[in-house]
Amino acid sequence: MKVTEHIKQANGKTLFSFEIIPPQKGQNIQELYNNIDPLMEFKPPFIDVTTSREEYVYISKENGLLEQKITRMRPGTVGICASLKYKYNVDAIPHVLCGGFTKEETEYVLLDCHYLGLDNVMALRGDAMKQEKFFLATKDGHKYASELVSQIKDLNSGKYLHEIIETPYNSDFCIGVAGYPEKHLEAPSMDADLRRLKEKVDAGADYVVTQMFFDNKKYFDFVDKARAIGIKVPIIPGIKPIAIKRHLQVLPQIFKLDLPEALVLEVEKCKDNEQVRQVGVEWAIDQAKELITQGAPVVHFYSMGKSENIKSIASAVF
Ligand code: FAD
Repeated sequence: MKVTEHIKQANGKTLFSFEIIPPQKGQNIQELYNNIDPLMEFKPPFIDVTTSREEYVYISKENGLLEQKITRMRPGTVGICASLKYKYNVDAIPHVLCGGFTKEETEYVLLDCHYLGLDNVMALRGDAMKQEKFFLATKDGHKYASELVSQIKDLNSGKYLHEIIETPYNSDFCIGVAGYPEKHLEAPSMDADLRRLKEKVDAGADYVVTQMFFDNKKYFDFVDKARAIGIKVPIIPGIKPIAIKRHLQVLPQIFKLDLPEALVLEVEKCKDNEQVRQVGVEWAIDQAKELITQGAPVVHFYSMGKSENIKSIASAVF
């Protein structure tokens, strides 16, 4: 079922959902299930599965030189979605990226999703590759998520890359896109970034999931500004519990977001990461409770492959 239908059917009740990361290649999928199992009692209507960018690896050659190869360390997003859908009877949402894929490859990914009965896709540009400073579009791929949304919309109406096929068997994907309550790191201003978000919605996006934030006011302001420029689709807040002391440096560095001073002070007081996790859980519980009181359609958690802290939060809130 579509995310928008889940929200409609919930009739104002806030839903619980989360995002997982595919295992590194060579690892057993059972570990993923072990992390998902404890969260299923909170009845998530959907689970997101990320897609990682490809990266360069260097292979030693006999002549002593290194050969540069490109590989994806966490492949399998669509396969994992299918396994979750049929194992847990839950809607699993693959993240489909511009980066690393030609439009042709994207068409095949979308067809796989359609054949597997996946009703939703999250359309994202993707981050820059680890070795790159800035995002570089793949040759014959998309530069911005809005272009990817248009391709998905086209496919929904039977318009393939090279032909229009008139058939009753088209896909009908519900399309999610990313939004940034503290502005995307490359955007010149908040207003400019919001205009870009509006372009994604105008291209056909059905809902927005936000980047993580730690101060709910940032989300509420973001929703107000989005509504003021005519973005009417559901805006789902994404939150992540702080889990290690290093998050104080890493999260602002990677996502260009601010951590509230009260949270920073609490984390700084912690003697070890067990205490940090507790602070992170309590902070996220307060965030989630307020988001629910203010009528957020869903509270979406970035699990980063660990379910223990998400379970503690969900137990206190849902
Ligand atoms: P876009 O919407 O294309 O925007 C990227 C930047 O370009 C923004 O600064 C925007 O303002 C600007 N822009 C947009 N259109 C134009 C235009 N026409 N002209 C000029 N500027 C423009 N990354 C992954 O690699 N894998 C994942 O699975 C993944 N999942 C995510 C899930 C969520 C909920 C979120 C919030 C992010 C996720 N990301 C993921 C990270 C995301 O890929 C990065 O934040 C990426 O840098 C931007 O993606 P986007 O889809 O928002 O890009």
